[in-house]
Amino acid sequence: MPQEARGKGQPGARKREGGSVVLPRAVQRALLRDVWGRREIEACGLLRGEIDAEGNWHVVAVHPLPNIAESPVFFEFAPEDVLQLELAYPGQIIGVYHSHPGGLHGASRTDRATMRRVNEEQQIPWVWLIVCGPFTADLPVVEASAGERAAEETCARWLAEQLLAYYHDPSEGLQQVVAVLEPGPQSAEAGQSVRAE
Ligand SMILES: [Zn+2]
Repeated sequence: MPQEARGKGQPGARKREGGSVVLPRAVQRALLRDVWGRREIEACGLLRGEIDAEGNWHVVAVHPLPNIAESPVFFEFAPEDVLQLELAYPGQIIGVYHSHPGGLHGASRTDRATMRRVNEEQQIPWVWLIVCGPFTADLPVVEASAGERAAEETCARWLAEQLLAYYHDPSEGLQQVVAVLEPGPQSAEAGQSVRAE
């Protein structure tokens, strides 16, 4: 059984009934590498994958993009960067991630407005991941990237607490989405799951 991210979330964002976002271990590693690698600003990028018939987002890769605002409290993509990826992977961009190096555990007002605009007004069904800092924990990100299993599990436990996922449903409003953190193949072979507690 993969574990589910249990970020505390925030008032006003109801848990979404159906639809979860599924993150394989390689995607988890890539997210951590990016948010730790440029933790002085908000790291950001696009998520590539597919949306299944039940509305679940299956992420297969993350594409870090420059934060042209270079800000610790705000992120902004260059439109041409987004366009380039959409052209390279038509129909495969399914969401956005960014980090909160200042530690805000939840979606900011700006985040909420952006989600509403894209999901509701533009009717683009992107999922939104926020990796909430602060990024001061001594996580074995490098070891996890090398596939070291204990390190991967430590990182996955951290992500289970600090990763939030959202979708602004056009009829239901802002929803918190369950993030399913899939274990790597070694963990699956051993028949073990990683639990947050
Ligand atoms: Zn934010």
